[in-house]
Amino acid sequence: MSQDRILPDEVPPPGEWAASAACLGAADPDLWFPDPDETLAAAMAVCEECPVRPDCLGYALHWRIEHGVWGGHSEVERRRIRRRRLVVV
Ligand code: SF4
Repeated sequence: MSQDRILPDEVPPPGEWAASAACLGAADPDLWFPDPDETLAAAMAVCEECPVRPDCLGYALHWRIEHGVWGGHSEVERRRIRRRRLVVV
């Protein structure tokens, strides 16, 4: 995949793995999309126990989803992972 920016409407819906997501049906989905001054701790705690965490992280990395917590990683952490992958590959 090229390094071109992916527009949000170009991102396909998650695969079947999403049906097993620990955050599915969460009372407060905004926990995964906090404002800059809010903590990620509550979302991270749910992600920690999620059975599809690797799938979720892979999806967010592949489609370069920039906003929110995916696979138990913040936006900043995912950017670091992507940079490391670019160096390794
Ligand atoms: S890893 Fe976190 S954000 Fe991803 S599906 Fe699981 S609970 Fe939801």
